[in-house]
Amino acid sequence: MNTDINELHEKFSEYGKSAKEWQRKCILLLPETVRLRVWEEKGFSCIYEYAGKLAGMSKGQVIDALYILKKIEDKPALMRVVEEKGINAVRPVVSIATMEDEKFWAGKAREMGNNTLRVFVRDVTREALVMNESQQVRDIPKNENKIKIIAMQLPSKLAQRLEKLKGAGSWAEIVEELVEAKEKENAIRKIKLEEEKPEAMRTDSKHVPRGIRSYIRRRSEGKCEFPNCGKKTEHLHHVNRFSSDKVHDPDMIVALCKAHHDLAHRGLIEGEDGSTEDWKITKERDYTNLNWYVDRQYELYRR
Ligand SMILES: [Zn+2]
Repeated sequence: MNTDINELHEKFSEYGKSAKEWQRKCILLLPETVRLRVWEEKGFSCIYEYAGKLAGMSKGQVIDALYILKKIEDKPALMRVVEEKGINAVRPVVSIATMEDEKFWAGKAREMGNNTLRVFVRDVTREALVMNESQQVRDIPKNENKIKIIAMQLPSKLAQRLEKLKGAGSWAEIVEELVEAKEKENAIRKIKLEEEKPEAMRTDSKHVPRGIRSYIRRRSEGKCEFPNCGKKTEHLHHVNRFSSDKVHDPDMIVALCKAHHDLAHRGLIEGEDGSTEDWKITKERDYTNLNWYVDRQYELYRR
């Protein structure tokens, strides 16, 4: 029975892989097919009927593929990634890659999984935004720089409550009160956490000791500790790399989601040995980062 299942599964996977490969080839022919209006010549009513009947593609797939291929038509390196890995592999980068940096993005699309790449692009663009802002702050004369306009999307009930709370005062006053209350709450929480923090433990087991694990869960509230991420924790990441130190230090273990854990091991997090509040995504790997070196050695050793 078991061999039957395995055999069936192997066949299914193999055929599925070939099907995907052949559909990739069809997708790459789409722009030229549209340009020459091949379907008319061959008696089909439109490109969707043509691609549907001949290659089993849905209308949505055709539109999507044409959209992405149009965006990268002048970017040969990204085009090659589509040939190798399919249209989805480049999707996260099509809106930000330019002719100048497409090689960089093609490299990332080739080596990263889709989820990691998406988070990487999001964090990198966020960094760029922050940098632009500080640029502006420097350029604008001081007195014009004192007010910042913020638009928020709030559920209407909540907006009403906020407005009621504001009363006759100004928005700045009520927001300041709320911010101060939240900051105070955070500070108290930090002190409390610091008090219950367990000692670092030296052990031969890679497994994080239970007390430390539960402390990190309380500190992170089960969420990724990379700034502004907030996704579910998937990994307890040793900033000091357990393989070199064999110490479980609660200050050196960070709860991370899958994508940020992946990015950390690719050496793309700046300031990894400092507080997570200052962590940043960097576009280029820091070759002086010792952790990155340890990761490579460990991987080689495991192979
Ligand atoms: Zn994360």
